[in-house]
Amino acid sequence: MPDNNGNNQNNNDDDEYEKYCYLCRRPESEAGPFIRMPGNMYICNDCMQKSFDSFNNGAMQFLDLSKMPNINMSQFMPFDDIPTSQKVKKKKKQKEEKEQKPLTMADVPAPHKIKAMLDEYVVGQEYAKRAMSVAVYNHYKRVITDTMDDIEIEKSNMLMLGPTGCGKTYLVQTIAKILQVPLAITDATTLTEAGYIGDDVESILSKLLAVADNDVEKAERGIVFIDEIDKITRKGENVSITRDVSGEGVQQALLKILEGTEASVPPQGGRKHPQQEFFHINTTNILFICGGAFDGLDKIISSRIDKKSIGFNADIADPTEQNIGELFKQALPQDFVKFGLIPEFIGRVPVTVALDLLDEEALKEILTRPKNAITKQYQKLLSLDGVKLDFEDGAITEVARLSNERKTGARGLRAILESSMMKYMYELPSREDVTECIITKDVITGEGEPKLLAAGKEVPALEEKQEEPEKKESESA
Ligand code: ADP
Repeated sequence: MPDNNGNNQNNNDDDEYEKYCYLCRRPESEAGPFIRMPGNMYICNDCMQKSFDSFNNGAMQFLDLSKMPNINMSQFMPFDDIPTSQKVKKKKKQKEEKEQKPLTMADVPAPHKIKAMLDEYVVGQEYAKRAMSVAVYNHYKRVITDTMDDIEIEKSNMLMLGPTGCGKTYLVQTIAKILQVPLAITDATTLTEAGYIGDDVESILSKLLAVADNDVEKAERGIVFIDEIDKITRKGENVSITRDVSGEGVQQALLKILEGTEASVPPQGGRKHPQQEFFHINTTNILFICGGAFDGLDKIISSRIDKKSIGFNADIADPTEQNIGELFKQALPQDFVKFGLIPEFIGRVPVTVALDLLDEEALKEILTRPKNAITKQYQKLLSLDGVKLDFEDGAITEVARLSNERKTGARGLRAILESSMMKYMYELPSREDVTECIITKDVITGEGEPKLLAAGKEVPALEEKQEEPEKKESESA
């Protein structure tokens, strides 16, 4: 639409493509800022300068563009007539706009939706998925609305309890992916009180800032996962009720950032230095999730429950591995204090999420069901080589059984499968005749080879086939 000066207002400013210099046809990202001329025309600085120079040198009686160097009159074309294939998209600007868009309630799915998305990736852990969906939803509701005058919603930092490999980190990673917020994962055992050798607690924020591409606003609504939080309460292997001073110091140091403080953080995790430029991060809206296996907490909980139940003739609880998840769900602040966490710390992680020990059935499901299940990943990799990969039920059961036996939870599954599959992942791409490969239980136990099919018929296994020519040679010799 023309404006008062007769200029065309459809100047593509909001368009997804860059403007072009009408004379040299370079895009703005290459030629620099343009001068806008009447009639929706843009001229770059260089071309404008050249025209003035030509005037000043007396080379032209009047502005005869056709005599200017480097200008091809046949190229003259209004922006709209330039073929799309030759236009340059305003990539950078678009990206910045997207990143700086403030978080709104529309960006945060309701708890049942978060849970449904978690279900696609995380097997079992029903209680944890529900508890986390609610806590995360409430947290971001608090962050986004920020208008609670009298009723201030408290921060819902979380404490996750569960044996190794049961999916604590994985749950947090999946939540961060669903919400598209930056996530920093750190290990409490590497942290020290300020002034000691090691990482001070602000290093956690440097990590988060790095993940958020040094965008402070983005980092301020991110998630920090502090793993092995149970290891900053004690020294050595034994569960100790007496406090470990250095561990306690780290807990003390964490208090401030867990609650919400303005922290000065050096960029890219560098150490503090007087001349260094600092980023100032407010941690009030950062969601902190602490995780740990809490070995021995089950005994503390069950002894408390036992004491209470004496006199009521109740069965004395036996903290076996099967009910460890159930026991963890009954944990109270005093149990954590007994374990070695300081009360102030427990107060700042009010949401406790207990995860279940994964049994063999759950491990089997983890191998096959989630969107990115390990077996699906292998199938996809081999399908690119034209090989259809199948796992017999016996093979899946054996992988789950071995991992369960080693007490490595879901973490052990990949290692077991990797060691069984490595040989075939190496050799199958070279077998052009093979169209199908079936992994049996014997492949996992190391007692057999997979079944290989070519055009529906079984063909010799990898090694036999490779040995054939050698056999023939030795026979003829
Ligand atoms: P933790 O932090 O509890 O020690 P992780 O979250 O690191 O354990 O789990 C290790 C791996 O096991 C994850 O990367 C994930 O692939 C898999 N895994 C663990 N638990 C589950 C689960 N419940 N569902 C699907 N995969 C899981």
